[in-house]
Amino acid sequence: MEKETKCIHAGYTPKNGESRMIPIVQSTTFKYDSSEDMGKLFDLEASGYFYTRLQNPTNDYVAGKICALEGGSAAMLTSSGQAANFYAIFNICSCGDHVVAASTIYGGTFNLFSVTMKRMGIEFTFVDPDCSAEELDAAFKPNTKAVFGETIANPALIVLDIEKFANAAHKHGVPLIIDNTFATPINCRPFEWGADIVTHSTTKYMDGHDATVGGCIVDSGKFDWFAHADKFPGLTTPDDSYHGVTYAEKFGLEGAFITKATAQLMRDFGSIQAPMNAYLLNLGLESLHVRMPRHCENAQKVAEFLEAHECIEWVNYPGLKSNKYYDLAQKYMPNGTCGVVSFGVKGGRSAAEKFMSKLQVAMIATHVADARTCVLHPASATHRQMNDEELRAAGVGPDLVRFSVGIENVNDIIADLAQALEACK
Ligand SMILES: *Cc1c(COP(=O)(O)O)cnc(C)c1O
Repeated sequence: MEKETKCIHAGYTPKNGESRMIPIVQSTTFKYDSSEDMGKLFDLEASGYFYTRLQNPTNDYVAGKICALEGGSAAMLTSSGQAANFYAIFNICSCGDHVVAASTIYGGTFNLFSVTMKRMGIEFTFVDPDCSAEELDAAFKPNTKAVFGETIANPALIVLDIEKFANAAHKHGVPLIIDNTFATPINCRPFEWGADIVTHSTTKYMDGHDATVGGCIVDSGKFDWFAHADKFPGLTTPDDSYHGVTYAEKFGLEGAFITKATAQLMRDFGSIQAPMNAYLLNLGLESLHVRMPRHCENAQKVAEFLEAHECIEWVNYPGLKSNKYYDLAQKYMPNGTCGVVSFGVKGGRSAAEKFMSKLQVAMIATHVADARTCVLHPASATHRQMNDEELRAAGVGPDLVRFSVGIENVNDIIADLAQALEACK
């Protein structure tokens, strides 16, 4: 199946007389005929559902669709993108381990890694995504267990050289985890460039309608845990909490990572997506392949309009020929990158605030990547505790406006920008 067909059909095939839409299995528990049947599930001897804190059929249909879109071997939904990134790392890292991550990642993930996971004893080295292969190499330690980056960084819009990061990770015998939220599998499939595990905040383009918070982890099934068995004892040695199951042995390279994350992390942390949310996410996925090209087409026109406007100081969009990441974007995402554009209004912080207040179509919201155009001025919202100097050091200048282009008619979006900029003159 091509990706457009997968968006509609993958993950769920109704049998004779069954519902055409994915059924919402709104049930905490599942019934069995005998205690013996049930016991087999608890021993991971049989596959089946017993409690929705770990697994639910609705979630699995939708995870199956995302898995097919990414070209993976297994996938699971989580309650949020934050939970997906936490699980993806914690599934192979423990206290005393180390991870190499790109420095430009989403602020929420940066905080999760540098503050909360640090408290768990996991250490992160943040590297400039544009560093040389030698500099990247130098960031590894004997206890490094994974490498992490975003296809397109939110909100810096830096395009990651996935092959460079994959080569470095594999040279050191560890997997590359890629957060593919902004590109989606419609625009980029990181497994084709060497990534081993992909994560998503499905809250963004996948849901696409501002309706549900969610996340997903997809495994490529290609990373050979046994080739580096000493680094990944959680996958290559028996799990006492499941009667001595060795995940990579029993479930193969295709199934080990997701089975372990479900059996251990979902069991113990319970960050499961509600089946109702998974159903809504699926509605978004059914039109993902139609929406993404429109987001990119609209964003390209918006970026070109802004670049030519006298009131605009600078524009950052990887689809612009003038952009530092244009060539990398062409390599990894020849059909388009994402719908998010950032720019600076001449006149700095006060001009940006005035401009924002005049917008009518674009709504002020702490969100990106959905059908409705929305806009945020980090200096007066998410980063408002910082002064201008601190903002510049964080790579978020006082004039920076983050503009998430929706799928309205682009002429209305551009007319809105034009009148708001006119009012600032
Ligand atoms: C939003 C986002 C997250 C966090 O996802 P939530 O669903 O909000 O928890 C992680 N990574 C990226 C790239 C994001 O944009």
